Amino acid sequence: MRIDLHTHSSASDGTDSPAQLMAAAAAAGVDVIAITDHDTTAGWDQALAARPDGLTVVRGTEFSCVYRPDDAHRIGLHLLGYLFDPEDVALRAERVRLRETRATRARTMVDRMAADGIPITWAQVQAIAAGGPLGRPHIGRALVQADVVPDVDTAFRDLLSSRRPYYVRKADLDVFDAIRLLRGAGGLPVFAHPIARRRGPVVPDEVIARMAAAGLVALEVDHPDQDSDDRAHAAALARDLGLIGTGSSDYHGSNKPTPIAVCTTPPDAYEALIALPSALQPVGP
Ligand code: AMP
Ligand code: FE
Ligand code: FE
Ligand code: ZN
Repeated sequence: MRIDLHTHSSASDGTDSPAQLMAAAAAAGVDVIAITDHDTTAGWDQALAARPDGLTVVRGTEFSCVYRPDDAHRIGLHLLGYLFDPEDVALRAERVRLRETRATRARTMVDRMAADGIPITWAQVQAIAAGGPLGRPHIGRALVQADVVPDVDTAFRDLLSSRRPYYVRKADLDVFDAIRLLRGAGGLPVFAHPIARRRGPVVPDEVIARMAAAGLVALEVDHPDQDSDDRAHAAALARDLGLIGTGSSDYHGSNKPTPIAVCTTPPDAYEALIALPSALQPVGP
């Protein structure tokens, strides 16, 4: 069994359409795939409609959250949510709010670049995002199209990183609020790449323990952005806290070099996850 529980389609900042994502999963010999676009469920129906016979699809999303120990500090972190009710009013309102603030934030970033003579336009970036939640990878592709940079990775390094003057922060979603919202909608909250140090500061173990007490169900242990020590630490922490340990690729199509299913979830972890009560069930064999 090959199980990949974290992937993105063109409904957010991946490059494969939901149907292409299903085909890519099948071609890679994947048995279970989760579609976890940022702040949207817009790809779910297309993914299910295109689901190859042997493939099981887990419907999910990914929220960028923040942990604020005090007024002066903030640590960004990502929360996956699986199998929640897409009609839940509170959670749906939050997805809408996050998408709206993503748009204003991306527009500000593009305006700052244009004001500096960088030849990209808001219309171009909107066309690339095709109505989905706007993210920096869409601006990155506009920069590649305009020959400002050779690839999206260089765009991140040279222009889009939080250390660059063009960067604008996204809206805050407190991670404990996100856990409550997901649980309230019958969803299963999972801490994505909890110890991905290469992405920046990570939260202390004590915070992960509080997240577990608040309703978190799993930690992503195997992830391309976590080295072997961090994976071992995440696995030990999951065991200590009674959490499930998952693994996933965080595939984004050609926006990132990571192949689909480069990291996977052990079958017993997957079985434990889907045995938990949830509003939706996986679709497939
Ligand atoms: P945003 O959510 O708009 O702040 O953009 C962050 C997204 O950019 C994440 O979901 C990552 O998938 C993606 N990302 C981060 N770093 C890179 C990179 N070096 N190359 C391509 N995509 C990246
Ligand atoms: Fe992304
Ligand atoms: Fe993430
Ligand atoms: Zn992701």
